[in-house]
This record gives sequence, C-alpha cells and structure tokens, in this order.
Amino acid sequence: MQRLSMKRSAIDLEEMASGLNKRKMIQHAVFKELVKLVDPGVKAWTPTKGKQNIIMFVGLQGSGKTTTCSKLAYFYQRKGWKTCLICADTYRAGAFDQLKQNATKARIPFYGSYTEMDPVIIASEGVEKFKNENFEIIIVDTSGRHKQEDSLFEEMLQVANAIQPDNIVYVMDASIGQACEAQAKAFKDKVDVASVIVTKLDGHAKGGGALSAVAATKSPIIFIGTGEHIDDFEPFKTQPFISKLLGMGDIEGLIDKVNELKLDDNEALIEKLKHGQFTLRDMYEQFQNIMKMGPFSQILGMIPGFGTDFMSKGNEQESMARLKKLMTIMDSMNDQELDSTDGAKVFSKQPGRIQRVARGSGVSTRDVQELLTQYTKFAQMVKKMGGIKGLFKGGDMSKNVNPSQLAKLNQQMAKMMDPRVLHHMGGMAGLQSMMRQFQQGAAGNMKGMMGFNNM
Ligand code: GDP
Ligand code: MG
Repeated sequence: MQRLSMKRSAIDLEEMASGLNKRKMIQHAVFKELVKLVDPGVKAWTPTKGKQNIIMFVGLQGSGKTTTCSKLAYFYQRKGWKTCLICADTYRAGAFDQLKQNATKARIPFYGSYTEMDPVIIASEGVEKFKNENFEIIIVDTSGRHKQEDSLFEEMLQVANAIQPDNIVYVMDASIGQACEAQAKAFKDKVDVASVIVTKLDGHAKGGGALSAVAATKSPIIFIGTGEHIDDFEPFKTQPFISKLLGMGDIEGLIDKVNELKLDDNEALIEKLKHGQFTLRDMYEQFQNIMKMGPFSQILGMIPGFGTDFMSKGNEQESMARLKKLMTIMDSMNDQELDSTDGAKVFSKQPGRIQRVARGSGVSTRDVQELLTQYTKFAQMVKKMGGIKGLFKGGDMSKNVNPSQLAKLNQQMAKMMDPRVLHHMGGMAGLQSMMRQFQQGAAGNMKGMMGFNNM
C-alpha cells in the first residue's frame, strides 16, 4: 500500500510539471513575485474625517495631474467629504481655466488666480481659505515642466513647505516606460511623496513602470486613471493590475465560470439568436444565467481593466435587486407573452396585459413598461447581432467578424444599453475593453457573454 501511494504522488508530480500545468505554475510564480513588487510594505495614506486633509499633487507636465486632481476630488465628494481644489500652477497658460472647468462641472469649490504669479502665495492663500471654511479634503494642483528641471523641483519644495501637505501624490503616466524609475526617484528625493497614481491605463500601456515608481518612492499606488472623464478613476487593486500587466486577466477563471453554466447546451437559444430572434423568455433565462454565476463582482473582477466601481457592494446589490425585480415581473407573464418573438407588441396591442402583470407581481405599470422597453432594446440588439454574419458561428470570433463590424457592434450595444448600466460597466471604455478581452481571450464564448452585456 505504501509503495503504491508513493508511486501515485510521483506520477502526479510529473503530470503537474508537464505541459500546461508547468506553464500555469510558472505563471503563478511570476504573478506572485509581481504582486510583491507593487506592495511597498507601507499602508496607504487615508484621510481623516473631520480633519483638514491637504493633498498635494506632483508630477511632470502632461502626466495627468490636473485631470487626476479633479477625479480625486470628485471621488471624495461623492463619498460625502467636504472637498475643494486649488490651482497652484502658474506656469502653464490656461492651467487655472482647466481646473476651474473641471471643478465647475463637478460642482467642487475651487481657488486660483489669473494675476498672481507666485504658486507659493496662491497655494498658501487657498489652503488658508479652505481650512477656515472647514473643508476636509483640500487638493492642491501644481505645475509641471516637460523635463525634470531644477526650477520645478525648487518650486515644488517651496509649495510643500508652505502648505505642509498630509499626503503628496506622485502622478505617473502609464506609458512613460524606461525613464520611470529615475523620474520617480527625483521627485521622492525632493519632497516626501507618499502615494502614487498611475494614469492613462486605458491606453496601450500596461503600466509596468509603476513597479519602478513604487520601488523608487516606497509608496503604494492608490488609484489608477482609466480615461479622460472625471469618473474614469478606480481605487488601485493589485490582482487585476498585475493580471493586465501580464496580459492574462483572469480569463481562465472566467471561462471556467461560463463553462460551468453549460450555455453551449442551449442550442435552441443560439439558433434563435442566429436568426435575430429574442423573446421575453430568452431574456428571463439570460438573467437566470447571470444569477447562477454568483456574485457579479466576482465575474466582473475577472475582466481586466474593468470599472471596479461596478464591483463595490452597493452597486452589485443594486444590480442584483434590479435583476430580481425584472424576473419577478416576468414570472407573472403567461406563455404566450413570454414566447412571442415580439413580446412588447403583445403588450402594446392589449394594454390590459400590462395591468395584469403589474398586479400579479406587485409593481407599478410603469415598471412593467420599463421592462418591456429594456426588452425591446435587447431584442433590437439581438436582431442586429444576428445580422452580422458569422458572429454565432462559434470558434474564434475575431476570425469570423472583422474589426470594423465589431466596432460598430460595440457602439450599437452601448446605444441600446441602459445608460446607468453602461456607466456601472465603466462606460464605453469598460464595455470596449470587455469586448476586446473576449475577442482575444475567450473568443467563442459570445454565447456566455450575452448575459453580461444585457445587464
Ligand atoms: P498635467 O499637465 O499633469 O496637469 O496633465 P493633464 O491633467 O492636463 O492631462 C494631460 C492630458 O492627459 C489631458 O489631455 C488629459 O485629458 C489626459 N489624461 C489624463 N489622465 C488620463 C487618463 O487616465 N486616461 C487618458 N486617456 N487620458 C488622460
Ligand atoms: Mg496641469
């Protein structure tokens, strides 16, 4: 017995070390090492409620400071902090206007000057003013130069000395590459950088330079910028970041999940989709599939570059609750309504049906109408998708459909989706990056995807 079991474990080891498993093991080891690299071993700075927290931004010109200042202010404002912005960039023409515009749009109080040329004076005055007004988050934007110039560092140091920030954020463009380490170190040598924000991660750059920035500044990455808009901003999460860096995402986990659903067995649905047909019952089943997949966040978390905003508890519960409500409404529909290829028409022809379903499911008639509107949008989408040749052929989707068709499809999907849902998904960029991931990694799983997009 003893010998037998020993032999067994030896065989297991051999198996593990071979082929795919070997690759997985190496990947895992690399992954773990990289995770260690983005962890500077210090806790990220967090603001204290009820206190005046002064945050100063530093970084080269064009790295995204002004944009990111506004994003961070917006982030805290939405969380209920009393937040404001100060423009201490007197170097770049239009700097104040840029900040003013962002702040006004987001209704964030701001301070700056068109005439004062000394950034130290502006920063001090602004901080003083907002401190007196009991602002909790005071964010100071500073100027940058194209290169690391002595004058920039001198100015930065003077501003820092004058306002005594609680946190200095170093803003880094993800595409910076090789120069990254020296640059980050130069900033850290002059002022006490305590946090890093990596911007422009929505582009081609994977942000590998961030690893050097963390090492050089001994500071954690606190947020990432994923677009030009004020809410293209996510708290930094190690695992998805590294996944993206390695270009793998957790596509494997995602495929496993989708496969668990055995959606491939659903030949009837696929057949219908091919012909551009989609009934209320199909929608119901798609919702069921999503529910079966378990926590939404888990699924979405597997898709790199995805809006983490979506994964926060509130949103997830909200989405799930909405889904459940829609399903409850459909539970009150009869077979004729559920199986019609134009479910909405059945209702519009005989509006009494809407009242019946509303009563049966304990919702208002408007809720039923909204569901039908949503359904109509999905059905339209399916129709369009059915019209794109080869989309549901299976196999490698990217080979079946050409890029311009896909781009068009993405746009159509965005148009047809509930804007709130699209927003949750990280906007158009989120949707596109998801589409891209599927095209690259999980091609052929289009069937499984239907569920996500419908949300
Ligand atoms: P600053 O000179 O450091 O203040 O940089 P800005 O905030 O003015 O940003 C420079 C450019 O980068 C602007 O065109 C921004 O819209 C853009 N930008 C900033 N952050 C991001 C981001 O996360 N993604 C993308 N795509 N663009 C960004
Ligand atoms: Mg700026």
